[in-house]
Amino acid sequence: MNKKTLNKFRHILVEHRDTLDTWLKSNSESKEVHLGGAPVQEVEKVVSQHTEALERINRGEFGQCTECSGDIEPERLELDFTTCVCLDHYSESQLRLLERDLELAAKVQRQLLPHAVPVLPGVQIAAHTEPAQVVGGDYFDFFSYPDGSQGVVIADVMGKGLSASMLMSNLQASLRILGPEHPELYSLANRLNELFLHNVKLISFISMFLVRIDENAGIVHYCNAGHNPAIRWEAASGTIHWLKPTGPAIGLTRKPSFKLKELPFSSGDILLLYTDGLVEAQNPGDDEDNEFGKERLATYVKEHFHQSADVFLAGLRETVKDFAGGFHDDVTLVVIKSI
Ligand SMILES: [Zn+2]
Repeated sequence: MNKKTLNKFRHILVEHRDTLDTWLKSNSESKEVHLGGAPVQEVEKVVSQHTEALERINRGEFGQCTECSGDIEPERLELDFTTCVCLDHYSESQLRLLERDLELAAKVQRQLLPHAVPVLPGVQIAAHTEPAQVVGGDYFDFFSYPDGSQGVVIADVMGKGLSASMLMSNLQASLRILGPEHPELYSLANRLNELFLHNVKLISFISMFLVRIDENAGIVHYCNAGHNPAIRWEAASGTIHWLKPTGPAIGLTRKPSFKLKELPFSSGDILLLYTDGLVEAQNPGDDEDNEFGKERLATYVKEHFHQSADVFLAGLRETVKDFAGGFHDDVTLVVIKSI
């Protein structure tokens, strides 16, 4: 397992364990009441499983199969971090069951993504997603507010396969219900965080960029929960702004503080939302500068800002594909242009 993935596991395991510890301390007096098959013992067990997993990380054994010392598939660890053997030791029938689950997950996921972009007066929206595997970790969606403004979200769910798919369907349901009720995006982010933080069995979090387009007022609001900085092209000055995180990823910390930002959105302005598969797309060469990266992305925007959202997006896909010889990670793009 690579260092980055391992660090993510470490971080989440520590956060989860601390959350559960806090819960245990605040419930210690009621322990007696719960004796005998009580949630307290359950939580204590989960806490010690977290501690053991963290010890395995420190010993360099986490994610290593106890039978053959090979790598355990990370998406299975996300579903259950106590997994200790790799798929090589599964029987034929166990494998068939897993495969069926995965096919179902892929089907569910395809149905979760919107099949059309919203049509708004004065705004062009284009979106595209490309999962690298059957089931990816990228997500985007749209929802409408009662006042006619438009919600847009792009998200990267840590992990792939089953765990990502399960989390994604939770996310979609939550967003469609909570989204329109929370015009203030920071309170939407807070509600989502509460929902996903206490998901103790899944080791996952979600980076997310939330946007609300208020075309009548000529402004957009955004809240960046630990996601890649989106690009804002400001047509009047011909400059690029990077919209950096205004809070942590969803499901990562107990008391996050999400800030809401407001921007003018005038004719010619563009918002480009993307997942990290775009900037991390690598070309096959082994020179140091082999990632597509933010600079190439900025150059593309400066050279193509005059195009319609559709053409702009299609051209960007081609440019990155040419660079990388095809995408290797999930890539999702949403282009929002004021006309
Ligand atoms: Zn093995």
